[in-house]
Amino acid sequence: MFNKLGLPGFRVAQLMHWMYEKNAASIDEITEFSKPLRDKLKGFSYIGGLKILKKTASPDATIKLLFGLEDSLSVEGVLIPDEYRLTLCVSSQVGCAMGCRFCLTATMGLVRNLRADEIAGQVMAVRRELQATDAIDNGAINGREITNIVFMGMGEPLKNFDGVVRGIHILTDYMGISKRRITLSTAGVVPQLQKLYKEIPEVNLAVSLNATTDATRSALMPVNNKYDIGALLRACGRLPISPRRRITFGYVLLKGINDTPADARRLVAMLKGLSAKVNLIPFNHYETAKYEPPDDKTVLEFQQILVDRHVTAFVRKSMGREICAACGQLRTCHPHAIYQG
Ligand code: SF4
Repeated sequence: MFNKLGLPGFRVAQLMHWMYEKNAASIDEITEFSKPLRDKLKGFSYIGGLKILKKTASPDATIKLLFGLEDSLSVEGVLIPDEYRLTLCVSSQVGCAMGCRFCLTATMGLVRNLRADEIAGQVMAVRRELQATDAIDNGAINGREITNIVFMGMGEPLKNFDGVVRGIHILTDYMGISKRRITLSTAGVVPQLQKLYKEIPEVNLAVSLNATTDATRSALMPVNNKYDIGALLRACGRLPISPRRRITFGYVLLKGINDTPADARRLVAMLKGLSAKVNLIPFNHYETAKYEPPDDKTVLEFQQILVDRHVTAFVRKSMGREICAACGQLRTCHPHAIYQG
């Protein structure tokens, strides 16, 4: 656009600065541009943005957000506060084509990829809300800054590779968010893993594993028919993870499916040699779900088998259960491990 107008490239940097750092809502707010230039731009462009259509607060301080896109579609996100962090779970696609059996998003199929500006726009919309007095009716969140971003909302981020990578660059280059505070969660799109680390080696990786045999994983996650557990773990082992960092393996515990002591022991063996930690997420039951969570004793025994064999394993509590914002309970939210250790 700027090239066509014959304007110098530095104007692009100025525009990005005003849009993403100064949160300008219209071209008229870009006072660094002369009025004739603003008028020229307004002749064929405008600054768009996502709208927060709905906010649903939970008693545990988690907030589910519905973002409206300009084509009337919508995606959901979740704002998750804890003592030290304010994490925003964002979406990368409208719907998802991956078809994981335990996921509500899968029932929608893929509608479309989000553009980079729509990915960054989720963060911008929440920032605006946080800055506005009482915009989010929650004492644990108002006035705080978003510290962490997790790509665990709707969609498979590695299936929208270019949009997600460009979105991350907007977040880091213009919005002041550190790459190390961004986590991308994947169901295991193996060929894109190396590519991701070439583009953005600093980003944290979470892999949704959820089973210890190919038969079980394929039954739960069709992606396993294409990239099986062996291929996925070999690809993870080849990633240039720096010594102090680890891949998070998400493991949704499903009663009677993947929660046995034998599964736990296999998981230990599978992760041997990998720089890994495990997030155990007892399945969050929803009305039409055909799975159940295991009881607490089974969950703790599973965890203990891992810990006894020196695998770091956390059981992730399900904040937001009351508003259906916990893992696997949102129509549009990924059941991967939202909570990072
Ligand atoms: S779990 Fe993630 S990858 Fe699988 S269908 Fe749901 S959104 Fe897609």
